[in-house]
Amino acid sequence: MEDHVYQQCINADCRADYAVDDVLFACRRCGSLLDVVYDWDKVNVPGSLAFFEQRWGTAGRDLVGRADYSGVWRFRELLPFARLEDIVTVGEGRTTLQQADRLGLDLNMKPGSLFLQYEGFNPSGSFKDNGMAAGFTMARRLGRRRVACASTGNTSASMAMFASMAAPAGEPSVQGIVFVGSGKIAFGKLSQTLDHGALTLQIDGDFDACMRRVLEMSDKLGIYLLNSLNPFRLEGQKTIMYRVLEGLDWQVPDWIIAPGGNLGNSSAFGKAFLELHHLGLVDRVPRLAIINASGANTLYDMVNERGLCWNAGRVDHDAIADHYRRMDETGQRARTVASAIEIGRPVNLTKALRALDVMDGVVRQIDDETILDHKAMVGRYGYSCEPASAASVAGLHLLLDEGVISKSERVVCVLTGHSLKDPDATVKYHTGIDVKAAKWPDPVPPTGKRSNHPVEVADDLAAICKAIGELAPEEAQGPRN
Ligand SMILES: *Cc1c(COP(=O)(O)O)cnc(C)c1O
Ligand SMILES: [Zn+2]
Repeated sequence: MEDHVYQQCINADCRADYAVDDVLFACRRCGSLLDVVYDWDKVNVPGSLAFFEQRWGTAGRDLVGRADYSGVWRFRELLPFARLEDIVTVGEGRTTLQQADRLGLDLNMKPGSLFLQYEGFNPSGSFKDNGMAAGFTMARRLGRRRVACASTGNTSASMAMFASMAAPAGEPSVQGIVFVGSGKIAFGKLSQTLDHGALTLQIDGDFDACMRRVLEMSDKLGIYLLNSLNPFRLEGQKTIMYRVLEGLDWQVPDWIIAPGGNLGNSSAFGKAFLELHHLGLVDRVPRLAIINASGANTLYDMVNERGLCWNAGRVDHDAIADHYRRMDETGQRARTVASAIEIGRPVNLTKALRALDVMDGVVRQIDDETILDHKAMVGRYGYSCEPASAASVAGLHLLLDEGVISKSERVVCVLTGHSLKDPDATVKYHTGIDVKAAKWPDPVPPTGKRSNHPVEVADDLAAICKAIGELAPEEAQGPRN
């Protein structure tokens, strides 16, 4: 076992340890989520966060230069599982903290109070690239050439992009395998996934069904899973908070507000601040607000209605199981215009409870109409975002109205994805034209030499394995035809 980094079960009654290169996505003893844990005494951590400024802008062609150019890897001392020679980067994380006074004014906030962390500037257009850089670095270290995810769209777009670039010329290519639910994915995201050559399986089911299947399938076929269940992905997403701090000259804001889907991002933010505080690199921790869509409000329900909490690492798993059983019995499915957060069973629920604990957090829910109104507000005053991202600003509005946040507190809303991911939602909002409801002529089979057609497959493990076995042989190279 490498001595400064290992994986550990987050359940306080278990805390089983696993080697850093053990491939598992749940504790073998108790089934809980895993953390990447460092023995910081054995890591060379800079004494001050300002150390990282010197790396901004260097864009050399050697390993160090490429790592320094990345908004993830220039903070590599704070995610020290990665060996320099394994680092995978596509130039992710060069994103902007935007002072948003005009939007703030519209919400009655004082100038200098509201900031937007615009993650739509990532190469694939969403924050997922931060996590994929870390996930692919681990895949490279493990020598995995087949990677998979279930996705509401952005995870697949990001994974497909990284897969298309992860292998240097001369090495076998990396095959991305993507599970998307039937008819749910925004076209901007689907188009990226297809263009980057991922094998795209359209399962007859929703995101939660896709998640179950990709877990089974990756286990059975030995394919590396890159959903946010993968704890290394969250290591990359911690850097979003480092860049927020950098944008504020290393001052800690009062609030971080983020939309909640699978809750990987909020979990990563909690871990980032837990570690920074432990290392003495910040003197306090901001508060966290996680915003659900009302149509996909499991976290909101569990925390605010049922009192679920971190409980020092002893989470009430029976209450969660009970909740999911009830959702199944009543046929309750996640449903929201904010497709990126249309998730009923968030895989990082327990880690998000820890983040809420560490960051003295709150959870709110917002209906679709209000999300879209705030999306238009964001677009009106600056870089625009996709619907899920605007939940953060709508959540801020609600918390201001409630008096939980005051108008002179310093607030950072994380804008998770670019508006061009889902132009249909924007066009429909402004014109009433519902592209998705329009009747299309029957599709003509694609004839492009490199057409990468999604494969429809039943929600059935045998059928899925068959599809993958036929379409993605172990060492698949080059485009299929
Ligand atoms: C993935 C995603 C989310 C949800 O993030 P989680 O980490 O799953 O909670 C929100 N917005 C966008 C644009 C996303 O792509
Ligand atoms: Zn355990």
